[in-house]
Amino acid sequence: MSTVELSGVSHAYGRTQALRDVSLTVAPGEVVAVTGPSGCGKSTLLLLAAGVLRAQSGRVVLTGTDLAGADEAARARIRRRSVGIVLQFGQLVPDLPVLDNVALPLLLEGHAPREARAAAAGWLDRVGLDVPPTTLPSELSGGQAQLAAAARALVTGPLLVLADEPTASLDTATGRQLLDLLVTSTTAAGGSVVLVSHDNAVAARADREVRLRAGSVVHEVALS
Ligand code: ADP
Ligand code: ADP
Repeated sequence: MSTVELSGVSHAYGRTQALRDVSLTVAPGEVVAVTGPSGCGKSTLLLLAAGVLRAQSGRVVLTGTDLAGADEAARARIRRRSVGIVLQFGQLVPDLPVLDNVALPLLLEGHAPREARAAAAGWLDRVGLDVPPTTLPSELSGGQAQLAAAARALVTGPLLVLADEPTASLDTATGRQLLDLLVTSTTAAGGSVVLVSHDNAVAARADREVRLRAGSVVHEVALS
């Protein structure tokens, strides 16, 4: 079973055709980089794969479930269970301390608060974010917020990690370490990673590169 499979997916925002007939299959353990110029549809592809956006045509099957037949609640459930998302600007809940932000996915799954916070502290340590647990997101730098968002994405041990420019706010060395952590911790457990980036160093970390241009796949290369 593929981790995620998009077949002939198209998506428009009003009159802007963001994706046109895109197909992409991600196998268990695979790392795929989605690259291309700004505005080519990379983020839209990621949001469709996550079930955040609903495909206007074509099919998205996420960890065995056809999302076309899934309402928002069902898609949210699949996302919580199987997907970790890292967006460009961290997207942390503003009123929650960093530790609780990272623990949140486990709390929503019904884990005991103590256990969830202990796991969250472990991931904050692994991503290298060394701040007091009560720190609020507004007190973090952009790079620190990105590290916290990565910890939150990994805390549930997701089958699929989707990351949009996950190293954009980080220096080269920290970015490389985070990328390594995202890839190795996920694939070691049989999970898959989709990395959206215009950074060649990020693409080089993938098994396969899928290049988009104006909403279509123009190039697909296996990397070694
Ligand atoms: P990329 O991630 O490659 O920069 P996006 O998927 O963000 O590309 O955007 C693809 C196209 O869709 C662009 O033309 C962008 O302006 C447009 N777009 C993206 N999100 C929205 C939105 N929420 N509303 C309207 N247009 C959007
Ligand atoms: P990226 O290049 O990573 O997609 P953008 O700056 O294009 O980042 O998009 C940031 C956010 O703004 C996204 O949530 C996207 O959906 C939204 N967005 C992008 N283009 C438009 C647009 N033309 N109109 C409205 N929202 C947009």
